[in-house]
Amino acid sequence: MNSAALQPEAPLNRRDFLRSASALAASAGFAGTAIAQQPEKPNAQDKVELSQIHATTEQPEKIPGPFESRDHRTGFAIVGLGRLALGEILPAMGKSKYCKPTALVSGDRQKALKIAAQYGIKESSVYDYTTYDQLARNPDVQVIYIVLPNSMHADFTVRGARAGKHILCEKPMATTAKDCERMIAACEQAKVKLMIAYRSQYEPNDLALIKMIRAGKLGKLRQYIATNSQNQGDPTQWRQKKALAGGGCMPDVGVYCLNAARFLSDEEPYEVQATIVQPKDDPRFAEVEASCQVIAKFPSGFVATFNSSYNAHKSQFLRIEGVEAFAELNSAFAYHGIKLRYSKLIDGQEIMHEPSIEEKDQFAEEMDHMALCVQKNLKPHTPGEEGLQDQRITDAIYESARTGKAVKLSPPHAPTRSPDPVEA
Ligand code: NAD
Repeated sequence: MNSAALQPEAPLNRRDFLRSASALAASAGFAGTAIAQQPEKPNAQDKVELSQIHATTEQPEKIPGPFESRDHRTGFAIVGLGRLALGEILPAMGKSKYCKPTALVSGDRQKALKIAAQYGIKESSVYDYTTYDQLARNPDVQVIYIVLPNSMHADFTVRGARAGKHILCEKPMATTAKDCERMIAACEQAKVKLMIAYRSQYEPNDLALIKMIRAGKLGKLRQYIATNSQNQGDPTQWRQKKALAGGGCMPDVGVYCLNAARFLSDEEPYEVQATIVQPKDDPRFAEVEASCQVIAKFPSGFVATFNSSYNAHKSQFLRIEGVEAFAELNSAFAYHGIKLRYSKLIDGQEIMHEPSIEEKDQFAEEMDHMALCVQKNLKPHTPGEEGLQDQRITDAIYESARTGKAVKLSPPHAPTRSPDPVEA
């Protein structure tokens, strides 16, 4: 063998070297043993592991991930830069696996530019409410996340769908059933996805409770009690204006109790009876109710009782009772720290269990679900139909409160939720 035969004509790059080395190894009959082929470039989807430094008696530390690379993430435009967008949604982008913020829409350009700089969003991808439709020409945006006052959801959904973008819309979906139907029709016509941001349906404790109920661990469901209350301040905010909010505590926080009664029981109510309280001497409640109390009856005999309030101290709780056990979420509907507990008679002892469930950011989970639905072309678990059904029931709740009579509801034409979240 002359020395020239050993010299490659051009220097081998790393990939060529690995290829020829594996070919050599294969021809020598020891492929896969002597020389393990290394990936040339690290894959963002490979989980990064660190060695455990604590004793085996300690709970192992968890390194989150794997995370999708920025190039492969679904781009989100956030519309409305208020408390929820700045406090929860944008920070949750950092915990998401499949999403990235790529555009902002706000009436306050200076604020939007500051936030764009913080999240690495291009200045050219900052829009206002009049230039919003130009999102159609922004290839970095696949999903529009609408985080505006409730009555604005419908128009911004319709315009976003016409711009050819998928829509993730905050709860409540809108302020009238007619607007919900308009949103669904616009998204169908534009062939884009519509998801309502019911974060509880992507939250690990809620998902564990759904699993328990479906597995029959509580026995036949009998009743449910829930409350979602908070004490409002500023009487001039949009939440206290009927035209922008659609109502008071019921569509804002009561909707969580209603939605959970439906997704936990997997049934639809056929009747609601409700009262509202609207104190005349409190300027906060000139236009909307301060509290709402509801009894909803379901075909199996299951009964849900729930309260919501804008003038009681923050209180969030849910308990569901079956023939064989009860389970509760405390604080149900909260952003953080939800705990599932259930009580059951075992060997003659009534025992309260609190399973250890890893906390996850509900907003990241919910947005990742939307991103995966876009990437895999699936219908979201909580589509527009789910928001429309809550709106129909909310309308019946107000009718009952107004007339003092129980109001009958017809069932939806088809199931309102799609199969379970992909991630669950
Ligand atoms: P917010 O008042 O803090 O923010 C609303 C944003 O809309 C602000 O940036 C405001 O400038 C903008 N806006 C545009 N037009 C407006 C108008 N005519 N009047 C008032 N504001 C206007 O409200 P928020 O708490 O961020 O709520 C926004 C949406 O998110 C609501 O639909 C609400 O129900 C929903 N929300 C959901 C959750 C959840 O846990 N999923 C929590 C809070 C709020």
